[in-house]
Amino acid sequence: MRQFQVKINCTFAAILTLILTKDMSSTTATIHDTKLDLFAEVKTTNHEQVVFCNDNASGLKAIIAIHNTVLGPGLGGTRMWNYATEAEALNDVLRLSRGMTYKASISGLNLGGAKAVIIGVASRDKSEALMRKFGRFVENLNGKYITAEDVGTTTKDMEYVNMETDSVAGLPESMGGGGDPSPVTAYGVYMGMKASAKKAYGSDSLEGKKISIQGIGKVGMHLVELVSKEGAIVSVSDIIQTSLDHAAKTYNASVVNGSEIYGLDVDIFAPCALGGILNTDNINALNCDIVAGAANNQLAVEEEHGMMLRKKGVLYAPDFLINAGGLINVYSEVIGYNRENAMRDTENIYDTTLNIYDLADSKDMHTQKAAILLAQKRIDDIASVQSTY
Ligand code: NAD
Repeated sequence: MRQFQVKINCTFAAILTLILTKDMSSTTATIHDTKLDLFAEVKTTNHEQVVFCNDNASGLKAIIAIHNTVLGPGLGGTRMWNYATEAEALNDVLRLSRGMTYKASISGLNLGGAKAVIIGVASRDKSEALMRKFGRFVENLNGKYITAEDVGTTTKDMEYVNMETDSVAGLPESMGGGGDPSPVTAYGVYMGMKASAKKAYGSDSLEGKKISIQGIGKVGMHLVELVSKEGAIVSVSDIIQTSLDHAAKTYNASVVNGSEIYGLDVDIFAPCALGGILNTDNINALNCDIVAGAANNQLAVEEEHGMMLRKKGVLYAPDFLINAGGLINVYSEVIGYNRENAMRDTENIYDTTLNIYDLADSKDMHTQKAAILLAQKRIDDIASVQSTY
């Protein structure tokens, strides 16, 4: 078989040079390493399994990371990205899969955390054969990993994956799937935002509140609609002029240029574009009471910037909690799709957000840390439930 697969029962280290021999019909592989220490970092993040998938015929180079399956099969999207190095791809998949574990756990879902990355340029390297071969690798995991769409992959790609495995979610409605999860994600962010307002102002009404939204794509634009309907005064930024025009025309939103959004005098700032934007400079610039948005991994350095926000008196709604609506929607697909149930379950984000704020106060810790603590507690509790036959 022209494939090579390495399974590692733990997490991974930073410096890895894995070079496969050109003749993959032989099963030999040469690993050149200066500091090959595959298990060092995976020990700290405690990943269960990491699978390297190679197929010379289609050009597939993928990594599937299964972080934790105590609560159920690991579910997480497949990202296709032109990573500069293999170590970068590995670090990304390890970080993202761990995030999925916490997102599923805190949302009360019977799902574990996993993620996959395909190394390559989506517009150039993707093909039916590549996606179907990837589907075969997913199938080989016997249901332990369920994949879905992510950055660089589309619903159509998931249809190809589905030709080789049933372990795929996020299919179009025409195929019995839940379709685009973005409206549900936006609804969850809206719930998290209202809970944050309740904590900060004593009322969860957003009427008259000044809200800035960075990134008005699939999630951000739905959020603009939800908060506008409630009477919020909205400012938006994006790099796509047609989106800005639409928000201005349809929702009377003010348009803000680039990094000006960080220092804007608002009540709530909602990052809905990129991760890692809450760095030291941007946090120093913030002029808001609450940060509550959809973007994944908003804190550039989790501990440092989580604490920095707390010390500054800015209430931070943990990203992986309030953007979980999409996952809740996809989970509903796994157990038998029902949009109403998905929306109802997404409403629980409101109460969970308030619980996390209480926990953070009682332990004098930043809110992201409190959210991880709560998510980990559920995993530990259920692991102990399952300890007897
Ligand atoms: P999207 O690609 O549809 O929207 C992102 C928007 O951000 C685009 O309009 C883009 O032009 C804009 N943008 C990019 N760079 C920008 C910049 N420097 N300044 C301002 N705007 C910029 O993505 P999406 O599906 O709306 O997701 C938004 C965020 O939420 C992402 O971080 C994503 O990972 C996260 N998220 C999305 C979902 C979902 O259901 N779609 C679920 C969970 C988390």
